[in-house]
Amino acid sequence: MTNVNIMRMSELYAPTLKEDPADAEIASHRLLLRAGFIRKTASGVYTFLPLGKKVLAKVENIVREEMDGIGAQEIMMPALQPGELWHESGRWDDYGPELMRLVDRHDHEFCLGPTHEELITSLVRNELRSYKELPLSLYQIQVKFRDEIRPRFGLLRSREFIMKDAYSFHADQESLQKTYDDMSAAYGRICERMDLDYRPVEADPGQIGGNVTCEFMALAETGEAELVHCACGWAANAEAGDCLARPTVYDVPQMEKIATPNVHTIAELAEFLDIPESSTVKALSGKNDEGRLVVLFIPGDHELNELKAARAAGGFTLLSDEEMEGFGLHKGSMGPVGLPKEAHVIAARSLQAVPKWVVGANEDGYHYVGARLGEDFQVDEWADLCVVRPGDSCPACGLPLEGARGIEVSQVFQLGDKYSRAMGASFMAEDGSEQPFLMGCYGVGISRTVAAIVEQHNDEHGIAWPLSVAPAHVCVIPLTVGDDEVQPAAEKLATDLARLGFEVAIDDRKERAGVKFADADLIGWPLQVIVGKRGLAEQKVEIKRRSTGARRDIPLDALTDALAFSQRNAKVWGSEVSLFGALFE
Ligand code: ATP
Ligand code: MG
Repeated sequence: MTNVNIMRMSELYAPTLKEDPADAEIASHRLLLRAGFIRKTASGVYTFLPLGKKVLAKVENIVREEMDGIGAQEIMMPALQPGELWHESGRWDDYGPELMRLVDRHDHEFCLGPTHEELITSLVRNELRSYKELPLSLYQIQVKFRDEIRPRFGLLRSREFIMKDAYSFHADQESLQKTYDDMSAAYGRICERMDLDYRPVEADPGQIGGNVTCEFMALAETGEAELVHCACGWAANAEAGDCLARPTVYDVPQMEKIATPNVHTIAELAEFLDIPESSTVKALSGKNDEGRLVVLFIPGDHELNELKAARAAGGFTLLSDEEMEGFGLHKGSMGPVGLPKEAHVIAARSLQAVPKWVVGANEDGYHYVGARLGEDFQVDEWADLCVVRPGDSCPACGLPLEGARGIEVSQVFQLGDKYSRAMGASFMAEDGSEQPFLMGCYGVGISRTVAAIVEQHNDEHGIAWPLSVAPAHVCVIPLTVGDDEVQPAAEKLATDLARLGFEVAIDDRKERAGVKFADADLIGWPLQVIVGKRGLAEQKVEIKRRSTGARRDIPLDALTDALAFSQRNAKVWGSEVSLFGALFE
């Protein structure tokens, strides 16, 4: 008979806390601490206790299976990286204080890797030489370091965390696109296998313009990211999505200059005129990278997206009050009529549909209503400038967008030749020419995902793990321990279930039933089997499904039969419904 492995609560190192930890603001942080999955070592630095390590391993394995499934090969790179490589890519200077830097005893610079583009590019540049060896995808599951300015929410934003990072190398764009699509599909399956309610969203490629990227967001009220999404399937990070605002027109017969004493903000202007903020136009003045004066106009009810502004204007830094005075501009009453000649005027595309604007009059305490576009003033350029918000039109279908919040669990990215060019990583193409690799990079936040799962799967009693990532599938709970009937029956059941292939825990502690129930709900085993004296008299046990709270009495042999049957027939090992659903019908 094969040996079976049963997790014994009497031996398990899983100290639980009765009270909520003081600094834990959100469910995942609170519950992972309380249920004994993690402990804090320092700000943003955590230890995984046995239960936490089990869940982490489950998440890692799902990710590993999906990576292996699309032909990526696992490697392990060092966390300690030579500073030289970061000087080569230019990121030693660009990355800023998030990069954890250190100096060794020989005075050589090193960093603790926040990501591994430099290291992998240097790894392949001397040995991956021919187009015949491409494409190539390599990945690792490893600890990352980022000295986050505000580590918080436990595993969601930490300074030391676990990431799966994959990198791909290609001879041409078509090949890069194919791997990018494969990775995206794998990332979707990873979320599905862990029962995450998620959306792939358009994301901002940051300073590296022109690149393609997508973030996978687990929907959660506690998420740091703001999203917009549409019934048609389009979704974007609000920082990135195209903004199609719906400004409203305040119609007056002709342009009129009106005194607006003490009006400095859009809210004050809208209130003063008794019109919605969407009928006003907001102005922002700045300089581009060449030092040229740029004035931007956006719908009054929207915010400027600084990345978009910089892209449209060739860099954009807001003017200081003194600089504004130097140009004769008036803070709080800027407008397009009578701007300095040298100003380059860029306006949000959605304002193109507004023939008459409510704007500042470039004079303290005055505004214009009915300023006519093309007659009273001109716009030099139209661009996408604003942060998209709920209620804006969907760029794909035109319906109003809805808002949501999300946790970025993963991101896929087409890097192009940014790193290969900077670091001289090239291959011999089919025509004999030497060309830089095209690269992609793809990251899954493994430890952040553990927290995201808890954010979506918890209630007032604790965690309710999806079966695929639970620290064990079933917990057998003998109500009395040391009893000559209940405990042996519970032990036998646990062994039987383990032999069927289930991961089994047994709460063999000499604790009151109430304590065991509370801990089982807190820890979140998907299925609880409660063995008590009264039930046993009729050869029955009680089962409870954590995710639904459903419970029932069931004859012992019916339980093992049903589980043996569903285990044999469960096509996707890990699907909770296929395993436990039938038990409760
Ligand atoms: P964020 O915008 O949340 O700071 P990022 O976009 O900088 O994240 P990436 O460089 O895309 O992160 O890293 C890949 C993945 O690593 C992220 O999708 C996320 O799941 C995870 N991750 C990034 N930073 C952290 C962190 N401080 N703590 C935990 N996980 C993180
Ligand atoms: Mg990211």
